[in-house]
Amino acid sequence: MSVSSKIQDVFNEPGCSKNANKSAKDKKKGCTKALQPGGAAGGCAFDGAKIALQPFADVAHLVHGPIACEGNSWDNRGSASSGPTLWRTSFTTDMTEQDVVFGGEKKLFKACKEIIEKYDPPAIFVYQTCVPAMIGDDIGAVCKAASQKFGKPVIPVNVPGFVGPKNLGNKLAGEALLDYVIGTVEPEYTTPYDINIIGEFNLAGEFWQVKPLLDELGIRILSCISGDGRYNEVASSHRARATMMVCSKAMINVARKMEERYGIPFFEGSFYGIEDTSDSLKELARLLIERGADPELMDRVNALCEREEKRAYAAIAKLKPRVQGKKVLLITGGVKSWSVVAALMEAGFEMVGTSVKKSTREDKERIKELMGQDAHLIEDMKPRDMYKMLRDARADIMLSGGRSQFVALKATMPWLDINQERHQCYMGYVGMVNLVKEIDRTLSNPVWKKVRKPAPWAKVGDSWQERALAQIAQEQAELAADPAKAEEVRRAKAVCMCKGVTLGAIEDAIRGGAATTEAVKEKTAASGGCGACAVRIQEILDQGAIVGQPTQQINVAAE
Ligand code: SF4
Repeated sequence: MSVSSKIQDVFNEPGCSKNANKSAKDKKKGCTKALQPGGAAGGCAFDGAKIALQPFADVAHLVHGPIACEGNSWDNRGSASSGPTLWRTSFTTDMTEQDVVFGGEKKLFKACKEIIEKYDPPAIFVYQTCVPAMIGDDIGAVCKAASQKFGKPVIPVNVPGFVGPKNLGNKLAGEALLDYVIGTVEPEYTTPYDINIIGEFNLAGEFWQVKPLLDELGIRILSCISGDGRYNEVASSHRARATMMVCSKAMINVARKMEERYGIPFFEGSFYGIEDTSDSLKELARLLIERGADPELMDRVNALCEREEKRAYAAIAKLKPRVQGKKVLLITGGVKSWSVVAALMEAGFEMVGTSVKKSTREDKERIKELMGQDAHLIEDMKPRDMYKMLRDARADIMLSGGRSQFVALKATMPWLDINQERHQCYMGYVGMVNLVKEIDRTLSNPVWKKVRKPAPWAKVGDSWQERALAQIAQEQAELAADPAKAEEVRRAKAVCMCKGVTLGAIEDAIRGGAATTEAVKEKTAASGGCGACAVRIQEILDQGAIVGQPTQQINVAAE
């Protein structure tokens, strides 16, 4: 199948709710968001595929392209392996101008030969990048010839960067597994307790905090795609009885197609948060029992969850006196922030706000239940608002990904990395205890006192921080004095980032008679891109927007 038909196939993925909601025209356009000037572009499709597959630890990952492609993508995640180290060796054909003129296929074939002779891996994954794709190198044909010649699987991963963004690359990597790997090897033996874990990358080795629990329950991980994975395991993963998909949408196509082809049921779960971990273990047990495991498995799972929850909460309670009352601003890209919120509140933290960009309506309700109806649910917070929140000491610490770290550092406030680049393990019951410990350590680090001292040359009242705060205060005062301007600013807030649709435009559409998200989409194009704002539009509709009402009266929280 050509790469363009493969992409269309991925965009038609019925398991992806965002794609399912799109029109045929929007599906063709894919998930790429229009970039805001000055915004970071994010990774390309090749980068996404490399992220998804590189954690297969015994495989040689060969990048066909100029050396910079490999330089960009190597080591961009802190996955860990319990054995082989071949995945850490960087292989690339390092294409030059000469290869562009004469073609790079021979070079690729020779590279496969050299890798097999020197390292003898169970398989080679060959990644296509932009340059060889543009000059027409057929990596499929080269991989086929190399497989036949050397008697080893040489798998083409056709993901030139220009075909789309990182998340498309994740899915195309999954397609390569489905087309060439899964189902090609039979496991030595099978049990009714065999499972697959999909979309788990074993960052900082954190999956090893959950694996012992599965071992204790007698649940065997037939294959993990791809954290600490092995080629033969994924090749025989079609014999598993159930699948848990960890990273919500990254590889939904793999889970769904395995269900379709091999009858392996799957569910989306998370091992972040105490209750989420218990829920996921119970769901795994339920699916296994449905497919032939002994029903007593559920009793053992319930007992284990009860024991581990008690242990985790007891460990957190010990830390409570140190962190009680500290205010946390939680900005995660994660889907289930309510689960982390629950654990942090149990530890005595006060939550001043949490991001809910990827949360479902039920998740938001759960957060409100935990944090109260006035909870600050952040859809999209500007860096300057984060900065002000930290400077005004409305938060003692910010937990977020690396991209927002400089906001906290500029505000000289403690910050903790909780996204994929982190070096700490927050998965499972132990992970939540670790998280509380890490927050405590970060809060009590003496560096914050030192960096807050004004520089010897700084004039009182004239530091850049004070000037920035004064500017923000002035803007706010101007808005307070000019309600028309304030309304203009409120209406200008972007709701749909992909299509650049503002709150005002959506309100106008509702006033003009659009009573459903679909009708709003038709009138404004909002939610016609990645679809993430559909929940937000529904909320705007739910929050009392009455068709025909003047704009100003529509009751919308503009946060
Ligand atoms: S966009 Fe193309 S050239 Fe750039 S890193 Fe990705 S594959 Fe390589």
